[in-house]
Amino acid sequence: MIPYGKQNISKEDIESVVKVLNSDFLTQGPQVPLFEKAVSGYCGSEYSVAVNSATSALHISCLALGLQEGDLLWTSPNSFVASANCALYCGAKVDFVDIDPLTYNISVEELEKKLINAKLDDKLPKIVIPVHFAGQSCDMKKIKSLGDEYGFSIIEDASHAIGSHYLDKAVGGCQYSDIAVFSFHPVKIITTAEGGIATTNSNELAQKMDLYRSHGITRDEALMRGKSDGSWYYQQISLGFNYRMTELQAALGISQLNRLDDFVSKRHVLKKRYDKLLERLPLIKPYQSLSCYSALHLYPIKLDLAKNFPNNREQIFNALRENDIGVNVHYIPIHLQPYYKNLGFKYGDFPNTELYYENVLTLPLFAHMTFKQQDKIVSALTNILL
Ligand SMILES: *Cc1c(COP(=O)(O)O)cnc(C)c1O
Repeated sequence: MIPYGKQNISKEDIESVVKVLNSDFLTQGPQVPLFEKAVSGYCGSEYSVAVNSATSALHISCLALGLQEGDLLWTSPNSFVASANCALYCGAKVDFVDIDPLTYNISVEELEKKLINAKLDDKLPKIVIPVHFAGQSCDMKKIKSLGDEYGFSIIEDASHAIGSHYLDKAVGGCQYSDIAVFSFHPVKIITTAEGGIATTNSNELAQKMDLYRSHGITRDEALMRGKSDGSWYYQQISLGFNYRMTELQAALGISQLNRLDDFVSKRHVLKKRYDKLLERLPLIKPYQSLSCYSALHLYPIKLDLAKNFPNNREQIFNALRENDIGVNVHYIPIHLQPYYKNLGFKYGDFPNTELYYENVLTLPLFAHMTFKQQDKIVSALTNILL
């Protein structure tokens, strides 16, 4: 089966992990701070806080921004459930903003409309999480100006977007947000097996996230209440978690980061090739905004189901799977998950997201996919659609 996404592990990656296994520290050693420094250097952020997943990074980001019971968080329904769950972890309520039919990212027009109404009802969100779907940045400049106007904080869910650029700057530099979050799950652009990181330019937010990832415990006397009892002493000053990244993961991350630009440019070669090879087929290829250079996490095609008659999406999906092509669907709208339906959401709430979902297929795309594999995918799809 050609998977829709796959990691690439080099000899250097393996050696860097083995080196850590033979060292003094498997956790809480020098590798995590080195990885954080490397990610900050790459993205142009002041600080980075590495954790065991992007889900954890989203959680501690919300906590650091003070999200709590009675608060509201808005995000895109066209995302993985973690983008919304982080609000619920904090006891806050979640709501969604429909997507732009061109980019499949959160629609800034819809966002603005919803903010105007929310202001009248005194129900403004405390945090908005734009998700850079497939690696393409949201319209952050506009979202930031709405944030300034309506007083919400911004966490970029950049799980798909390490290596992406927006207005010629690396995503993660937080020019237009408080915090950006990356995922290092193996299907993403670079991997640490499991892992994630939050970048920020705020010392205060970085310090809070650092506490939340490790039990709320500090050994820094400046942060303690009262005086230290001695050099063995630590204090728990907030309720944190164990969300720490291991030294093995960080070493793998450092080694992977060295190849990030190469991974992204390989994805671009394959993307251009897809664009060309799919030209004759009745489908809509992913749109690329001129203000963004995408890391191209996904290659979602929108089927024209009227033209593809009598094949429906499920038949096309199954036929490709039978040909060992690991097509996928990104995403099942979050608000249509049973858990979210129980919270009151229903079909019809976000029509652009629902229409997109009903027509989309994600074709395999990963840095080391071969042209031969790609040709096999295109020829299978052509046989089904033409
Ligand atoms: C993968 C992903 C996450 C969660 O990442 P983990 O590292 O697996 O926790 C969150 N949001 C989006 C958009 C993702 O694609």
